[in-house]
Amino acid sequence: MDKIYDVIIIGAGPAGLTAGIYCGRYMLSTLILEKGAVGGQITLTSEIENYPGQLGGGAESGMTLTARMREQAESFGAVFEAAEIVKAELDGDIKKLTASNGKEYCAKAVIISGGAHFRPIGCENEDRFVGAGISYCATCDANFFTGLDVYVVGGGDSAVEEAMYLTKFARRVTIIHRRDSLRAAQRIQEKAFANDKISFLWNTVVESAEGEDVLDRLILKNTLTGERTEIKADPDDGMLGLFGFIGMLPDTDIYKEAGVALKGGYIDAGEDTHTSVPGVFAAGDIRTKLLRQVVTACADGAVAASEAEHYLNA
Ligand code: NAP
Repeated sequence: MDKIYDVIIIGAGPAGLTAGIYCGRYMLSTLILEKGAVGGQITLTSEIENYPGQLGGGAESGMTLTARMREQAESFGAVFEAAEIVKAELDGDIKKLTASNGKEYCAKAVIISGGAHFRPIGCENEDRFVGAGISYCATCDANFFTGLDVYVVGGGDSAVEEAMYLTKFARRVTIIHRRDSLRAAQRIQEKAFANDKISFLWNTVVESAEGEDVLDRLILKNTLTGERTEIKADPDDGMLGLFGFIGMLPDTDIYKEAGVALKGGYIDAGEDTHTSVPGVFAAGDIRTKLLRQVVTACADGAVAASEAEHYLNA
């Protein structure tokens, strides 16, 4: 550790990138740490239709939008580094963060924008078949399932939109939902119901994933009757696909250990992004909030940077 930054931002999704842009413009020395791909989970989205300024048909991908945000943050002086933070010491005026490789980083203020990760489907043998039939990212993996039968778990916007995207590759896509009605927005539902490559299995959960080297069978369970059904891959295919889109889980364990108050697993922070620890702010999907979207993540990033600037100059 050789430098004390004004602000360290943990996580380079839309919230962290926007915070980086604003911190840079406030002339704060700013380091953005990211353990995976810069851009966060939105880089897995092929078309962002609802971010203001995106026009239907020509809407851009999460990858290109966040690449421009990164460039913009860098143009205002924010510095990026690849690091997975595994320990946070947030008390006091100087906050200390430790990465998985032992490297330490210090800052006067910290903005936590680490987002969330995919909730696992929760079926037996799930880990065994990740990358061998099970996936959580249609944009990344859809082409591996070209011409095959694909099953999608979930009933929210993600599940239904990604199921529609998967129909461009798969022979058939079946949405498996634990209830008998979708959570997805009406407009998205209507498109899916009109898509003749999509069918639905209601009141159903995946109990087990089966196969030798690759996924070729699913054991499903009816949530009302308890009845079990086996789905087999077409023998000519030898494999089927299972995609899980059942929401996200926030990555908050290390912050809980550092004394940051959580609520329902998320960092307890209001619209002002203040956490229970002075000088520590939470932005984007990782904090308690009504709507988790790119536009609200960006708004949080701007507010967090502004609040950090006030804190540093108080
Ligand atoms: P979500 O809205 O939380 O939906 C999760 C779905 O998974 C629900 O249908 C839920 O069932 C189901 N589920 C949860 N746990 C389950 C389990 N253990 N087993 C089986 N099913 C389970 O998550 P999301 O679809 O990822 O969306 C997250 C946020 O992003 C939402 O605010 C959404 O509006 C937004 N989003 C927006 C867009 C867009 O506007 N274009 C696209 C994607 C996401 P129940 O319905 O029974 O609870």
